[in-house]
Amino acid sequence: MPVNTGSKPDISREKSAELYEKAKNYFPGGVNSPVRAFKSVYGTPLFIQKGDGCFVWDADGNQFIDFCGSWGPLILGHNPAKVREKVIETMQNGMSFGAPTALENELAELVIKNNKHVEKIRFTSSGTEAVMSAIRLARGYTKRDKILKFEGCYHGHSDSLLVKAGSGLVTFGETSSLGVPKSFAEETIVVPLNDTAALTQAFAQFKDQLAAVIIEGIPANNGLLMQDPAYIEFLQKICKDNGTLLIFDEVITGFRLGFEGAAGYYNAKPDIVTYGKILGGGLPVGMYGASAEIMGQISPDGGVYQAGTLSGNPVAMAAGIAQLTELLKSGFYKELNAKATEFAEGIQRFATARNYKFKVFHVGSIFWFAFTDRDKIQCADDIDPASMEKFKVMHRELLNRGIYLGPSGYEVGFVSAAHTKIELEKAKRAILEALDIVFRNK
Ligand SMILES: *Cc1c(COP(=O)(O)O)cnc(C)c1O
Repeated sequence: MPVNTGSKPDISREKSAELYEKAKNYFPGGVNSPVRAFKSVYGTPLFIQKGDGCFVWDADGNQFIDFCGSWGPLILGHNPAKVREKVIETMQNGMSFGAPTALENELAELVIKNNKHVEKIRFTSSGTEAVMSAIRLARGYTKRDKILKFEGCYHGHSDSLLVKAGSGLVTFGETSSLGVPKSFAEETIVVPLNDTAALTQAFAQFKDQLAAVIIEGIPANNGLLMQDPAYIEFLQKICKDNGTLLIFDEVITGFRLGFEGAAGYYNAKPDIVTYGKILGGGLPVGMYGASAEIMGQISPDGGVYQAGTLSGNPVAMAAGIAQLTELLKSGFYKELNAKATEFAEGIQRFATARNYKFKVFHVGSIFWFAFTDRDKIQCADDIDPASMEKFKVMHRELLNRGIYLGPSGYEVGFVSAAHTKIELEKAKRAILEALDIVFRNK
């Protein structure tokens, strides 16, 4: 392929820009979740009008092949008929009762029958809520206060988890948001990923104080940071030896890497798991689960309080049931993962042949574009912030070629079942062109 050096003209964003100006009057930064504001890439955010299969259309009528998938939930693509029909059918009977429905049992059965790590679960309305509740459960169960998290893992926006590492190997968290009391952050210990020495030191220093260690089974919110299997094994052992519960936050990996998520991938045995995103089929659902014994601590059986007006909402349950039913069909993950692997490896082969400092890290149907020449990136410090400038250029070139990636180089992308080989081939070509432009002055 000849080296491509021509940028395409910018797509029209007139209507999106107009909507964005309006939105700024109503919402801080014009958005209801910060990354949507396009602060790390060029131009105004695109206002999406419609999605179908692997495509989205913005307010200006531009069409894109979408690899953001609403940040993960849309493993079947946009607006799949099976999910839509079940949702509409369910809505005919009303939208919320605040009382139990059979649909909750049905979704719970789909989850529990196919996941050996959970005997009982509780549905919430978001991943953040699920994680926040799992932490409370761990504290209630162990009667300990401190938790340990990893730099480079995201667990939603609850106070205890909006903390980052200070300087040093094992640190009390420093708040990463205004409004989080320092005293809260001090209950969270932060260590780097994939580092057994740091874990050993933390457990020595906070002996008998750690209620839980929380990790994204495969960290995928700050790049894709694959952990060594031996490290995950070590993590399990040190938790067990110290009476500390291990929480696998599978909000992004759950049902993405199969029904047992990253735990299944590593053959690990977390004590508590949290799910969200795919579980809700595009509607707001989260969940945490554990053994019957641990879940026995949750109110009204036990003393750990947790509740929700819309928890187990029937319409959201219906979407989850329809989506998970599709995922259970034989060969679903095999086919999806094979497609995604071919896509990622094709791009990598091209970049390698051109000698570009660019890696496609991938697992299952998750991929991450990293502007690096490292063979592995396993902790947050391995990511060079300066490389994000290259992502920014790539993002613009891709939008101009009809490809939509999440608007930040720290975010992973997702291949869905709705991406056909034809569209993946199209996307690949656009990505190769964009890479040529990013590296034209290398
Ligand atoms: C998305 C995500 C969350 C937060 O879920 P929300 O539904 O956005 O609150 C928590 N943990 C992980 C691993 C996630 O990917």
